[in-house]
Amino acid sequence: MPRSVVIVGGGTAGWMTASYLKAAFADRIEVTLVESARVGTIGVGEATFSTVRHFFDYLGLDEREWMPACQATYKLAIRFEDWRHKGHHFYHPFERQRMVDGFPITDWWLQQGVTDRFDRDCFLIAALCDAKRSPRHHDGRLFEQDFVESGPERVHRTTLSEQDTQFPYAYHFDASLLADYLSGYAVRRGVRHVVDDVLDVSLDERGWIDHVLTREHGELRGDLFVDCTGFRGLLLNKALEEPFQSYQDTLPNDRAVALRVPVDMAAKGIRPCTTASARDAGWIWTIPLFGRIGTGYVYASEYITPEEAERDLRAFVGPAADDLEANHIRMRIGRSRDSWVRNCVAVGLSSGFVEPLESTGIFFIQHGIEQLVKHFPGDDWNPALRDAYNRSIANCMDGVREFLVLHYRGAARTDNQYWRDAKTRPVPDALAERMEAWQTRLPDTETVFPYYHGFEPYSYACMLLGLGGVPLRSSPALALLSDASAHKDFQIVRDQADELVRTLPSQHEYFARLHQAS
Ligand code: FAD
Repeated sequence: MPRSVVIVGGGTAGWMTASYLKAAFADRIEVTLVESARVGTIGVGEATFSTVRHFFDYLGLDEREWMPACQATYKLAIRFEDWRHKGHHFYHPFERQRMVDGFPITDWWLQQGVTDRFDRDCFLIAALCDAKRSPRHHDGRLFEQDFVESGPERVHRTTLSEQDTQFPYAYHFDASLLADYLSGYAVRRGVRHVVDDVLDVSLDERGWIDHVLTREHGELRGDLFVDCTGFRGLLLNKALEEPFQSYQDTLPNDRAVALRVPVDMAAKGIRPCTTASARDAGWIWTIPLFGRIGTGYVYASEYITPEEAERDLRAFVGPAADDLEANHIRMRIGRSRDSWVRNCVAVGLSSGFVEPLESTGIFFIQHGIEQLVKHFPGDDWNPALRDAYNRSIANCMDGVREFLVLHYRGAARTDNQYWRDAKTRPVPDALAERMEAWQTRLPDTETVFPYYHGFEPYSYACMLLGLGGVPLRSSPALALLSDASAHKDFQIVRDQADELVRTLPSQHEYFARLHQAS
């Protein structure tokens, strides 16, 4: 069996992989991680997806410890601003929708139009985000008690495939602090950490990786190599020449410019959500951490120059951005044809990436590592395991691509060329059919992308209802049913939301207290 794993790259992907492999296999495998001191990490990637909680649980890490160390905050939703028209906003929450007499509450909302805020009428989390609330009380109780909280003391560790609840939050964190934290975890569990440059990748006569050559530590040999070198794809794409399949025809945003902005959180409060604000050639993310915000403009270079994008980002942030250095990033959008080739598996940006609109970069990493553990090769390197792995990774990314294309195609905005082109650009074939179907019936399990990609039908429904560019109709059957239960449920959502806003601490209060205690 492959007993020795060499990971090249010490960004979020490299350290998540090293920690997870050690949590899974302990000393039954040897892990070496080599990272360059000259080549930096991407320096962004700070908003996550609600499934990330399984990752921390699997490692046995308690959020009361790691969160203060990484300036982390809670994220309950993504707030979409100006996607329908300027001045409009809605939330895509981490909250499944209720069913009312066999129909989703959003279907009833379409029929009844209670207020003009489907998110507040149908989901609790919208009110918590508007009021900047923490999802936990000071004593640690979660606002929704339906969840089996797995903690570090649990023997059984859950993974994505066992996810039977929609956990109500994800995290925002400082990516470099998290990488440090995870490196401490991994090194304490025996990971050998080498700081050096990989200069060359040497293949044997079969074309498998034999070793990587470093500047100061000579040859590093292993059975399995994990390529975590970011957009470079040093092992998979360069040495093994695995082609990269671009998604650029359907998702044209290819650049970003980012800033780290110190903020007085006591005065401003901390919104428990990521904000995605639509702009003239893309959108700006705002990720509130404890003590600063991470922000950046994701844009299509076909429409504006890097200088224009930076100017717009600075104007958006205001005077707080004045003396800050901007980080300009080129993005490689798409995926490697296969992420596992011979004895090399790519995890992270080297495997693939879509723009960070739904914060799925770290989710892809988590999914990739979990699948690697599930399909870990034996002595015979059975190709069936590799093929199953590759299918699962490709399906996951292709599914997210479809979901993101819907964001642009479904947005009502058509006020400039960028937003008009978004309505005529090609869409993946199946999505065009699905969008037709959704005009007569809101998305359900039978009409969304059929393979695991992290998003459930309720997410599609939220986006369609919020973006406003696709005409939607409620199910005709609702007109023949009594609406008494629906009225009751809308009232329950309102009452529960009011009660939670009244009793939960603000996110800033919650973390200020946690930081004092830690
Ligand atoms: P990198 O961070 O680029 O790390 C590469 C590593 O490889 C470094 O340690 C480097 O030293 C090493 N390396 C490279 N060459 C060599 C060499 N020759 N020798 C030795 N070492 C080498 N994801 C989310 O989940 N949420 C978000 O909000 C989000 N926002 C994003 C915004 C933007 C603009 C971009 C581009 C990405 C975003 N992502 C987001 C994705 C996220 O940043 C990445 O998935 C994550 O940081 C993982 O990056 P990585 O570790 O694969 O690569």
